[in-house]
Amino acid sequence: MPIDNNLLLTLAVYGGVIVAVFWVAMVLWAYRDMRARSRDGLAQIFAAAVVAVLNIPGLFIYILMRPRETLSEAYERSLEEEALLQEIEEKPTCPGCGHRVKDEWQACPFCHTRLKKPCRHCQSLLELSWNLCPYCATDQSRYEPSENASRRAGHVQPTHSYQPEPPPSIDDKWLASGNQQNQQDYPQYVDDEY
Ligand SMILES: [Zn+2]
Ligand SMILES: [Zn+2]
Repeated sequence: MPIDNNLLLTLAVYGGVIVAVFWVAMVLWAYRDMRARSRDGLAQIFAAAVVAVLNIPGLFIYILMRPRETLSEAYERSLEEEALLQEIEEKPTCPGCGHRVKDEWQACPFCHTRLKKPCRHCQSLLELSWNLCPYCATDQSRYEPSENASRRAGHVQPTHSYQPEPPPSIDDKWLASGNQQNQQDYPQYVDDEY
């Protein structure tokens, strides 16, 4: 019957349009979703192609294989990690005893570990390992303390030989732990002029 045929044809066209739109939407969705997860243009096209060729099974495969995080999620996570790291770095601790110390301290008041040294020229506090002052660019290794002392001794004749003060007593617990290596790494603070 012609009426039935027309109805069937209409239904078929309608169904075909629905399927086509759905297919295009899936491909577009896969492309956009991949673009949110990867900056790689080739990967974006590949994701869209997999869905375009394999259709609904392709969509399932894509969802299974896609990167776990979107780019914005990954960015947020990296920000969080950085903030956490900064929080740890902002609270310096004594390498000798683990107590909280302040940035402007030259020595740990708890275990006498040397923390920083003043610049020979501008007195800014420097890390012990630095040989150059970042503030005034003075070389910290040029004048050894002994050389400096002998130069001064040449100008002014001392009435008695210079006896350096003995270093402050070391905490017994420190020695008992046998941490000789650490002791060398972080020399005891000696209140001696350079
Ligand atoms: Zn300490
Ligand atoms: Zn300096």
